[in-house]
Amino acid sequence: MAQSMGVEKALAGGQRALYAVGERVSGTAGLREVLEETLRRVIDLLRADAGAIFVVEEAARELVLSASLGLSERFAAQEARLPIGTCMCGLSVEGADTLYVVEDVRVEPRCVIGNCIEDGFRSLLCLPLRAGGKVWGLLRLHGRKVGAFNRQRSSLLVFVGSQLGLAIQRTRLQEEIDQLLRRVEAERATLDSLMRSLVDGLVLVDADGQVAYWNPSAERYLGLSADVALGQRLEAILAHLCTIMQDPAEKLHDLRRALTDVASCPQVEFMVTSPAPRTLQARFLPVEGRHGLGIVLRDVTAERQLDEMKSQLLSTVSHELRTPLASIKGFATTLLRDDVQWEPAAQREFLQIIDQEADRLSELIDNLLAMSRLEAGVLRMDLGRVELAPLISEVVAGMELRARGHTLAADVPADLPEVWADDRRVRQVLHNLIDNALKYSSGGEVVVRARHEGDAVQVSVCDQGMGIPSDQLTRIFERFYQVEGAGKRRAGGAGLGLSICKGIVEAHGGRIWAESTPGLGSTFHFTLPVQPPPGKD
Ligand code: ADP
Repeated sequence: MAQSMGVEKALAGGQRALYAVGERVSGTAGLREVLEETLRRVIDLLRADAGAIFVVEEAARELVLSASLGLSERFAAQEARLPIGTCMCGLSVEGADTLYVVEDVRVEPRCVIGNCIEDGFRSLLCLPLRAGGKVWGLLRLHGRKVGAFNRQRSSLLVFVGSQLGLAIQRTRLQEEIDQLLRRVEAERATLDSLMRSLVDGLVLVDADGQVAYWNPSAERYLGLSADVALGQRLEAILAHLCTIMQDPAEKLHDLRRALTDVASCPQVEFMVTSPAPRTLQARFLPVEGRHGLGIVLRDVTAERQLDEMKSQLLSTVSHELRTPLASIKGFATTLLRDDVQWEPAAQREFLQIIDQEADRLSELIDNLLAMSRLEAGVLRMDLGRVELAPLISEVVAGMELRARGHTLAADVPADLPEVWADDRRVRQVLHNLIDNALKYSSGGEVVVRARHEGDAVQVSVCDQGMGIPSDQLTRIFERFYQVEGAGKRRAGGAGLGLSICKGIVEAHGGRIWAESTPGLGSTFHFTLPVQPPPGKD
């Protein structure tokens, strides 16, 4: 009786101590520390001679040694990883028992005893570490004596086992959460850098109508920093848009419609004047899941300019083609009339007009072809040594007919060096410049000069016409650019000649520019190289 009282007292003391161990396990220390500390205390309390704690690695179906005490280095190294499903340890984590006690390893067929015997261990205790219906690890104790572990006393370990199981489970879950968070963070960072580097503006509006995302392109297009825009209500953003938008009343109506009913109005195009003049296309996309709205802002300025240019080209070209064609058709029909006998002089005059208009047509077509080749970067240059004096005389002579009411002359020194150029293209440039000089002056002199200047020859076409305002002297070389005013209407033209001259001269490595005094006249200069580039002779 007294003996059984003593045992109960001892049991109660052991239980308290093991509870204390179990409680420490649920503290906040790192897993390895917890395992080592618990192992040390359990070995102490159960007077074991050695012990080890393994953690289950599910993917590899292995037990990984995570803490050990009292094992020889050799033993610990050999049992660093144990397969699940073989030997006593590997089987115990698959079994249903809470505790496995082996009185004598030599008589237990499931034990692979080599290591135990070499280290002098005879008895064994295996405690699967369970939590949440799963085994997370294994605690193993070794005794040098046969029957070192009393099953009843050892059963107190079960509480420690479940606490350790919980600790491992918690660590594993924490690891998984950390991994997941790292992945989410990495994906968020990728997405964020993608959205930040988008050329398009991107705005997200949440279900409460507040701006939740505003990328740098949205800042650039709308002149509102993310700091200011984030958290603002859409109304405030629309109010800002009104201050920078063209036709705010009409566009605001469209924007509001898009914001309230995306399906009926999925995109709105509007022009802003600040921070830079742009045409923006806003596309509205419902954001799934967040019940908000995404707005993608695309800068379509260049596209719209191109559209505008195309239609301008079409209308000017068709107009320019129609005018000479109408003359040719008119005079040809007149000449062919059976009911009229034309005097030879009149016939000749009509034929001359037909000839001139056909020239105009072919010049226009030449210019259009040159322009499309320049645009495509495939203007073929047939470069060689060109004598400019006869070339200038020939072009001037060929245009004399057109120069009625003007004095057209060439003033070229006899000792002008040859230039390295494409004969046909230089004629085209000169032709365009003289044609302009005649078109934009109502009489007076048009003189073509040339002089040797350093390593180039400079050719100048000088007129006494209406002149060009100084602020437009460089713009006239842009495609389609025409100086506003009466001259433009009277002279017609497609606004292409000077841009083609510029392209051709620059393809030679030369320069073209204009000087002018409005009301008194203009001079256009261009240079051509005297020498070919090295190795091209
Ligand atoms: P186009 O003559 O077909 O309009 P160009 O490219 O040859 O096209 O010229 C562009 C514009 O430059 C002309 O529309 C005209 O306003 C101006 N310009 C060109 N040459 C002269 C000139 N000699 N005198 C005055 N204005 C000129």
